Amino acid sequence: MAEIIDGRALATNIKAQVAQTIQQIKAQGGTVRFAAILVGDDPASKIYVRNKQKACEKVGIDFILHALPATCAQGEITALIQKLSRDPAVNGILLQLPLPLTVVGRDEDAAINAIASQKDVDGLTVLNTGRLCAGRTPLAPCTAQGVVHAIKAVCPDLTGKNVVIIGRSRIVGRPTSLLLSHENATVTVCHRHTKNLAAHTQAADIVVVAAGQPGLLTAAMVKPGAIVIDVGINRLADGSLCGDADFNALKDKVAALTPVPGGIGPLTIAFLLSNIVTAYQLQHGL
Ligand code: ADP
Repeated sequence: MAEIIDGRALATNIKAQVAQTIQQIKAQGGTVRFAAILVGDDPASKIYVRNKQKACEKVGIDFILHALPATCAQGEITALIQKLSRDPAVNGILLQLPLPLTVVGRDEDAAINAIASQKDVDGLTVLNTGRLCAGRTPLAPCTAQGVVHAIKAVCPDLTGKNVVIIGRSRIVGRPTSLLLSHENATVTVCHRHTKNLAAHTQAADIVVVAAGQPGLLTAAMVKPGAIVIDVGINRLADGSLCGDADFNALKDKVAALTPVPGGIGPLTIAFLLSNIVTAYQLQHGL
C-alpha cells in the first residue's frame, strides 16, 4: 500500500511559516498586500479567486480584488496592471487566467508581461520565466513548486532520479520540468504528440501527470515502487473531483501517491502565499 502524500498537511506547515513571517512584518509596521484581477465572470475563475482571498486573509495578507467586465478593452487591463505595478503599497499581483477572449485584440501575454517582475507571484512574466530557465528564481510558478515539495516529502534527494512529466503547459508541466532539472533529476517531458507514452512512464522513478485527462495514468503504466504526483483536477458528471491518475489501482503498486483532492491543490495555494511574502521581501530588500 502506497504512502499517500498529504498535501493538506504539507500546505498547513508552509502556511504556518508564512503566517509567522507576516506577523514579524506587521510587528515592524509593515503590511503585505496582494491584488487579484478578475476579468469577466467565469464561475470557475470566481471560485479560484475567492479561495485565494480566503487563504490570504487567514495568514494576514491584505487582499484587494479588482474586477473588470469581460468586455473591457485590453488597454484597461494593462493600465490597471501598470498602476498596481507602480503602487509601492501593493506587493503581489495576480491576473486570473484564462482571460475571456471575447474582445478582439485580447492579448493574455501582453497583460501578464505588464506585471512588475518583483510582484509576479505566478512567475509567468517572460523575465521570471527566463530566470527559471537560467537557474534559480525567487518567484517560480506555484503549482510547480508544490510538485517539487510533494516529491521531496517522500524523496528528499532527486539526484539522478528519472522523472517523466505528462503535460508541457506553461503553468505546470514546463516550469516543473525546469525546477526538477535544477534538483539534478533527469527529466522527460511528454505531451499529446508523445509516441508510446507508457514506455516512458514505465521507466520512470517518478511520474508527474498534469494533462487534464481523467484516468490517463493507469497502474500498468508505472513500475512498482514509483512515486506518482497527480496534478489533474477534473470534475466528473456526478460533480465529484478526480485527478489524471487511476488512484485506486495505483495505490497498491506505487511507493507514494498524491490524492485528488488534497494533494497538489492545497500546495499550490500555499506556495502562492509564500510567493506573496517573497515578493514583499524582494521589494523591501529583505
Ligand atoms: P494544465 O494547465 O493542467 O497543465 P493544459 O490543458 O494547459 O493543462 O495542458 C495539458 C497538457 O497535457 C498539454 O501539454 C498536452 O500536450 C498534455 N496532454 C493532454 N492529453 C494528453 C495525453 N493523452 N497524453 C499525453 N499528454 C497529454
